Amino acid sequence: DRAPVITVDGPGGAGKGTVCQLLAAKLGWHLLDSGALYRVSALAALHHNVDLENEEALGLLAAHLDVQFIGSEDGIKVILEGEDVSKAIRSSECANAASKVAAFPCVREALLRRQRLFRAAPGLVADGRDMGTVVFNDAEVKIFLTASAEERAQRRYNQLIEKGFDVNIDRLLAEIKERDARDMGRKVAPLVAAEDALILDTTGLDINQVMARVTEYVSDVL
Ligand code: C5P
Repeated sequence: DRAPVITVDGPGGAGKGTVCQLLAAKLGWHLLDSGALYRVSALAALHHNVDLENEEALGLLAAHLDVQFIGSEDGIKVILEGEDVSKAIRSSECANAASKVAAFPCVREALLRRQRLFRAAPGLVADGRDMGTVVFNDAEVKIFLTASAEERAQRRYNQLIEKGFDVNIDRLLAEIKERDARDMGRKVAPLVAAEDALILDTTGLDINQVMARVTEYVSDVL
């Protein structure tokens, strides 16, 4: 399918999730939260007692993942094997497990086709780490969102507190740095801006300022 795609990549806590939701709603386009697929894969491994080092078993699990994304009033619901895991996949434990699972080539390969199926008319907004470099490298608009690790930790803290998680800001910062290092250092599809991406550092910007820049860029290019 040759529907247009806008890719939004960047490290955790840069604001990709919010930007993508707002952008998809504004344009009336589909939304892919690719991180949720890695988080669900990690959660499935934990549920089925699959070792997070067992590449072969993790690849099989990802290939046969029984997951559904269902639009609802409070965002997209993530259903794993019939169970609503929308909240469970947001824990920082699950984020860390996801970044371990995501480093294995066979897991990434297994999720590739599933991600590409989201490309459908009238268009797709794709949120992740390798949307513009690998999964949709022919996307018409590519954006790389980033922010300082301290600011990203603070944003994650606010988000998680609001969702009712009990979190510690220093630990979150340490986890964000650890996850950055793992995501940027891995051999396959490392976190990097595509050559043709607009790089937007959102440190010190609020969501309205970020959206203003993003929508201006999107309407310039599309
Ligand atoms: O974006 P989110 O924090 O939900 O992603 C969780 C983890 O999934 C990331 O730390 C990263 O390791 C992995 N991921 C990835 N490729 C993507 C999206 C997420 O490797 N396209």
